Amino acid sequence: MRVKISLITTLMLISGCSSFASKDTLPPASLIIKNGQVITMNDNKQLIKNGVVVINNDTIIAVGDHSLLSQYDAQRIIDAQNGIVMPGMVNTHNHLPMIAFRGLGEEGIENRLFAYFFPLESKKLSRELIYQATRLGAIDLAQSGVTTFADMYYHVDEMAKATKEVGLRAVLGETVIKFPVVDAKQPYGGLEYGQQFINDYKNDPLITPAFAPHAAYTVSKQKLQQINAISKKLNVPVLIHVGEFGNESARISDNPKQLSPVAWLHDIGVLDNRMVLAHAIHVDQADIDLIKQSGAGVAYNPMANAKGATGIAPAWEMYQQQLPMGLGTDGPMSSNQVDLWRTLSYAANMQRLKHNDRTIMIPEQVIELATIGGARALHMEDKIGSLEVGKKADVIIVETQSANMMPNYNPYATLVYQANPSNVSTTIVNGNIIMEQRQMTQVDSADVTKNIRAIEADIAEFAKELAKQAITSPSLMK
Ligand SMILES: [Zn+2]
Repeated sequence: MRVKISLITTLMLISGCSSFASKDTLPPASLIIKNGQVITMNDNKQLIKNGVVVINNDTIIAVGDHSLLSQYDAQRIIDAQNGIVMPGMVNTHNHLPMIAFRGLGEEGIENRLFAYFFPLESKKLSRELIYQATRLGAIDLAQSGVTTFADMYYHVDEMAKATKEVGLRAVLGETVIKFPVVDAKQPYGGLEYGQQFINDYKNDPLITPAFAPHAAYTVSKQKLQQINAISKKLNVPVLIHVGEFGNESARISDNPKQLSPVAWLHDIGVLDNRMVLAHAIHVDQADIDLIKQSGAGVAYNPMANAKGATGIAPAWEMYQQQLPMGLGTDGPMSSNQVDLWRTLSYAANMQRLKHNDRTIMIPEQVIELATIGGARALHMEDKIGSLEVGKKADVIIVETQSANMMPNYNPYATLVYQANPSNVSTTIVNGNIIMEQRQMTQVDSADVTKNIRAIEADIAEFAKELAKQAITSPSLMK
């Protein structure tokens, strides 16, 4: 009897008969992830045990329980082995190429930005360094489960090339600043560079081109208004540092009323829903109201803020008032990590210390900030940040077999307080598996390592001398 049925089934399949639910009649899926604890980060923050995520090409086409497995004809199935399957994390503020300088300037230098960073950059930055360093940084990000990063730097075309080689998604903002810099001999040369870059990458599936005016105290009112007008016309984001230091109001030129940086940006008419404000530490309730009204996003960088002793942002207040807010690391000299794992616990613990309240910023809220919150901050929530039908397939698998991941009663708490980058086993961006079992699949990792070693050897001696000078130099900031 059994033989007869299988014979009939075979005949039916050969003849293409559709009355049986045969494999041929099922909708196609390029990739299915099964057997995962699926953190969806949808509006109900649904968590699916033994869940399945179905991807076709670059898009998520189904999320649900294991019954989905029999409903698709999958080209490839990955068994998550009861690991945590979640949206790729979003790092909302970075200066990734500075990874070439990671670990330098740690001698206790006062006014490190002006006495060390800027001289180091002016001497050692190049197009080639930016490309090589971005490749390293993007590998670091992919191996730690960040699938989208927002960045403010120079030669963003090189960054875009490197980012795409690794396979990550990024919002790349060309820096506009009142000094000559590596890619612009004239002050504010980034304006022109940025427009060319936006033109070249406007329709790229992975790169969102942007402007990055450095800050209100390093870019004039007129240039900020010009950037605002162009960004409106081209519909691109504007990334900017705001309220990172306590003395910014006094340093803004053309600020006779001594408005706060947020109020000043509002006053000159540039605070809008294309802006992403990095840091927002020194902001009061009036500033928070203005940010909320404008629809601007906020990048909360708790670890960099702590390391730089710049202050504790009112992140809990902004979270409660539902500002579009995500997590960032700031550059690799500011927190020495580009991944978000340590930032996750800082995000919660700094707020708990500040408010003397252990009940706030619970792990589920922190993971929200690291995923859909980050997507909202970058104005990309329609596209990324959660595992939902129709969104781009940016997905990571975090294994739960290692000793540090056990027990795993509450996956949100496991992620925030136990996990580290090495627990990320697989990273998928736009439907492509860019890292699997810790191995990069698209970029030549050995070539990246070789080039970074050469850069390190070139910089080491110069950096030592610079540190000696910087320690004794008077503050340039005043
Ligand atoms: Zn920054």
